[in-house]
Amino acid sequence: MIRPTPKYTQLFIDNEWVNAVSGKTFGTYDPTNGKKICDVAEGAEADVDLAVQAATRAFAQKSEWRQMDPSKRGLLLHKLADLMEEHRVELASLETYDNGKPYMMSYAADLELSIKCYRYYAGWADKHHGKTIPIDGDFFSMTLHEPVGVCGQIIPWNFPLLMQAWKLGPALALGNTIVMKPAEQTPLTALFVCELIKQAGFPKGVVNMVPGFGPTAGAAISSHKGIDKVAFTGSGEVGKLVMRDAAMSNMKTVTLELGGKSPNIILNDADLDYAVEQAHFALFFNMGQCCCAGSRTYVQEDIYDEFVRRSVERAQQRTVGDPWILTNEQGPQVDEDQYKKILALIETGKKEGAKLECGGAADGSEGYFIKPTIFSDVDDSMTIAREEIFGPVMQIMKFKTLDEVIERGNDSDFGLAAAVYTKDLENAFYLAKNLRAGSMWVNCYDVFSAGSPFGGFKQSGIGRELGEYALSNYTEVKTITMKLPQYAK
Ligand code: NAD
Repeated sequence: MIRPTPKYTQLFIDNEWVNAVSGKTFGTYDPTNGKKICDVAEGAEADVDLAVQAATRAFAQKSEWRQMDPSKRGLLLHKLADLMEEHRVELASLETYDNGKPYMMSYAADLELSIKCYRYYAGWADKHHGKTIPIDGDFFSMTLHEPVGVCGQIIPWNFPLLMQAWKLGPALALGNTIVMKPAEQTPLTALFVCELIKQAGFPKGVVNMVPGFGPTAGAAISSHKGIDKVAFTGSGEVGKLVMRDAAMSNMKTVTLELGGKSPNIILNDADLDYAVEQAHFALFFNMGQCCCAGSRTYVQEDIYDEFVRRSVERAQQRTVGDPWILTNEQGPQVDEDQYKKILALIETGKKEGAKLECGGAADGSEGYFIKPTIFSDVDDSMTIAREEIFGPVMQIMKFKTLDEVIERGNDSDFGLAAAVYTKDLENAFYLAKNLRAGSMWVNCYDVFSAGSPFGGFKQSGIGRELGEYALSNYTEVKTITMKLPQYAK
């Protein structure tokens, strides 16, 4: 379905489609040509407030949602996954239309991983139980796992459906209610999923969606006193604002998934062809718009020249263009802001003395396409080696020893991911143990599974998404201690 007509463009509150209180709308645009796709209702503070009221009613003690069997919550999540399978082509098409990512990727990666994420958390709905604890004295102590309550969730534009799934999956499995804000660049698939949530049979008010801008709708979520927890994915700059607003309002708990500048380390003994291809994928996947992109490629000195040569050859073969053409590997960047920011960082790289090997400019005159770009001879102090570029721009650096690359790899404010390519498992483990990052890939990159946790050290975030670990973000632990005589009276 090329450029499908969007069906859902209003706010979704209490299982109803409604206009914004202000009556305002905003445009969402096709990044291949900058043309408007449609207008979407623009939520702000008053709408977030209505959404919080709906979510609070849905969370009331005697509500249908609170009384629902945990196993039934699991069934609803499975039903949602079934409906996403049924609408997979339309959802993938809408994702490509709004975000610009190649259709093949939307269909094979984004939809696949999102559906699996809902199914994974469906299974947890009746399995995340507490403990009994052998405390001293005539007492019996146990813990109950209870939902946190009304959760605010603010998501980005790089993987709209997947980021929605990572947030909704664990929260809904455990019985929370939601007020979510999709990114203003890509609201369409998040809204479509709301219709499927309604069709699946989730009670009204359990999921509420308020599209809008960050400083208005987003900030209203972080600072709302009726919200018990906020989860955010996006830039570190905004992550700090979310923490501040959460603290200054009602000290709601905060989880953050932020940026990265992840070291991808290729040792002399690596399978060179494989490492070149993987390093290419690690950086260029999703137009470089990945928080965990392997954006500092460290190559050991013996293979450095050959690695650069083959990487340039590979980047020059990368097919850039219309995301609806199934063989194209790279589409446009998501919007003009990102496009300009990336081109400016490329200029910084040139000015600061990195060697431009290929690309380095826009691709074509229409839309937000950028040529696959490689810089070699990059110094760790250069701006392009320190800042998140979030675009198709690869930095290659040379190193000699393992300890040197560990020190340089860790010399960053971020700590989201790292990877190593080698045939020597001892060296792989040495690096894996000493690099400070939330995800460490060995001889692979960007391998994601709903069961493996993901999140960052240092300024890459707080908390973990996915896997069993993410359940704690959406759980309050209640300790019940009872006096219980140890002998019959
Ligand atoms: P951003 O952090 O501004 O936006 C992410 C989300 O936060 C959006 O939904 C946005 O509306 C919302 N937001 C913005 N201001 C807010 C506020 N004051 N309070 C609450 N919510 C707010 O990201 P961006 O401007 O779209 O991109 C800027 C940079 O962020 C990118 O270049 C990239 O480096 C990084 N980024 C990282 C991720 C990631 O997955 N970690 C995703 C997108 C962007």
